[in-house]
Formats: sequence, structure tokens, C-alpha cells
Amino acid sequence: MSGSEFKIIQSYFSDPEQENRSDIILGIGDDCAIVAPRKTSQLAFSIDTLISGVHFPHNTPADAIAYKALAVNLSDLAAMGAEPAWFTLSLTLPGELSQNNWLGKFSQSLFSLAKQYHINLIGGDTTHGPLSITIQVAGYVEPDAAIKRSGAKVGDVIIVTGGLGTAAMGLDIALQQSADNYICLSDTEKKSALNALNYPKPRVIEGVNLRGIAHSAIDLSDGLYADLGHILKASNVAAELQLENIPLSDTLSCLNQEAAWEKALTGGDDYELCFTLSKDDWPQVSKMNPQFTAIGRIVSQQPDQNNLRLLKTNGEELMLHSRGYDHFG
Ligand code: ADP
Ligand code: MG
Repeated sequence: MSGSEFKIIQSYFSDPEQENRSDIILGIGDDCAIVAPRKTSQLAFSIDTLISGVHFPHNTPADAIAYKALAVNLSDLAAMGAEPAWFTLSLTLPGELSQNNWLGKFSQSLFSLAKQYHINLIGGDTTHGPLSITIQVAGYVEPDAAIKRSGAKVGDVIIVTGGLGTAAMGLDIALQQSADNYICLSDTEKKSALNALNYPKPRVIEGVNLRGIAHSAIDLSDGLYADLGHILKASNVAAELQLENIPLSDTLSCLNQEAAWEKALTGGDDYELCFTLSKDDWPQVSKMNPQFTAIGRIVSQQPDQNNLRLLKTNGEELMLHSRGYDHFG
């Protein structure tokens, strides 16, 4: 490790205000971190990389990049019903970003979100190159209680948290695409769309509360159509969605009906949860969570039908123009 690398870690990533977790034996500073996990739990791991120009526009502010890099990982823990515990950070930085206060803003935002979810930074790596952030998280799940993609059952109700599509509009705005389409948005609405893109709220508490109730779950990173598709494939089932029931965020009212559905179904970055549960459990769960919406049901696969059918109230099926984000597509 070089002197400047040491200084970066000392100045920005050894936050003395990180809470004292009793399950951390040794944090940042040695060749490895050491943790002592609770003996009665299992551990869930996830890792995500954000690359400048691929996963966020080059002009994204430092605090948004840090927030999102951790939030998308917390969202993966949430989707399994895992409770956040520790994370590591691999940061590749171009020279100019180690100069101004970019790192100050980055680390402040990172630690602020970390505190909110009681997760500690225990180590990482710092290198020089085009901006890229990799975070690996670990969290606790009760033995065999993780909510998997493969547990959906025929007859289950399909639920989503929050509203869909705002983040995808935020991305259009950030990239200055479809600008004329969004003349209908006020500056405040544009700002809230950008906020949805840059500061997705990970549904950690909801995920933990769904343990033992949800049969399957996934977080919505690539769009509902593609992500629910992963549940269907893993569970060997099919689904019917009632388009009219999909919770569209307010900003989508500026699109025509079918364009709004398309945005909500194929737009990425919402980081809401989509899960399935028994229809007997739904009334109770819905009473406790006004932000949860039932959007359809799990059915058995039919050889002559789409696995995921998008139905209007008149029974007509919507055909999408695109199917969500695919890195290698
Ligand atoms: P080594 O050369 O043994 O791999 P490093 O010089 O990469 O160690 O890192 C020294 C210490 O600083 C390690 O404990 C490592 O986990 C930590 N560290 C390095 N970069 C970061 C970072 N970006 N965030 C948090 N901890 C970091
Ligand atoms: Mg070493």
C-alpha cells in the first residue's frame, strides 16, 4: 500500500463514529477483517459493482454514487429477508477525484446510510483507474428462513412495495433523453424522479418482516417484467398481472397509459421488492403495509402461453416493446 492510499483510507474510510458491533473482532487496518457471527444464524452474502458511465451517468454527484452503491446491496439483503451486518468496499478512483472533496462527500454519504441500517464497513481495497465501486455485504438470516426466488406457488398473490417507474424516468432526465416527453413534469417532479434514481430506499425492514410469510421475493433492479420473470423461472410457474393494479408513481401520469405501464414494467432501478405469498396471508399483510399492492397471481405454466401475461381489465394482453435492461443484450 502506498502512502497516499494509506492516507485515503485513514482520512475517509476509518470512521471513528461507526457503531460498535459486538460481532466484529477486527475491522479496517490489518490484512483481513475478523468477525464472530452469531452461532444460531446463517449468513447471506451479496456483491454489486457500479461502473461510471454504465451504472450511473458520469455527472452523478459523489454522495449519490456512495449511497446507491450501498443501497443496491442492502436491497439484495432485503430481498432475501436478511438483516445487514458488515460490508467491504473496493474503490477504483481516477486521480482527479482524490483531489477535491469528492472523497469527503462520498464517505460521508456512505457512512450515513450505513448507520441507518446498522451495517459496518470492515475492510476494502483502494486502487487507481476509471471510477468503479464494488461493495460486498453480509447479513444474518435465521436458519433456512431466507426468502428465495424459487418458492412461488400456484395460487400465490404477487405483491410489490411502493410505486414503480420513477427511477427510470429519472434516468431519462439525467441522460437528457425523452426531454420533450417530460415537458409535462414540473421542476419539482423532475427532481423527485432524479432522487428516486439516485437515492433508492432499500426495503430492508419490509424484507425482514416478510420472513416466514413470503414464499418468494426479488428486488426490482432491472424492471418488474424481467425480475418477476426470474421468480417464475426459478419456481417453474407462470403469472398473470392485472395492469390496472400496478402502482405507477405520480410522475408517470405524464405518459399515456401504455407508455406508463411499459415504463413501470421495463424501467430499472426502482429497488422495490416483488414477492409472492399465500392468498390467505394477504389480507393481514396488506392491513399492516399500506404501501404494498397486489398486482396479480401465480398460475401454472401453459405450453401455449407467455409465462408472464400482462392483462388489461377487458382481458386484452399487452405486448411490450422492450423487456428490461440486459447487460449483455
Ligand atoms: P493489503 O495490501 O494487505 O491487501 P491494503 O493496503 O489493501 O491491504 O488495505 C489496508 C487496510 O485498509 C485493510 O484492512 C483493508 O481492508 C483496508 N482498506 C483498504 N481500502 C479500503 C477501502 N476503500 N475501504 C475500507 N477499507 C479499506
Ligand atoms: Mg495484506
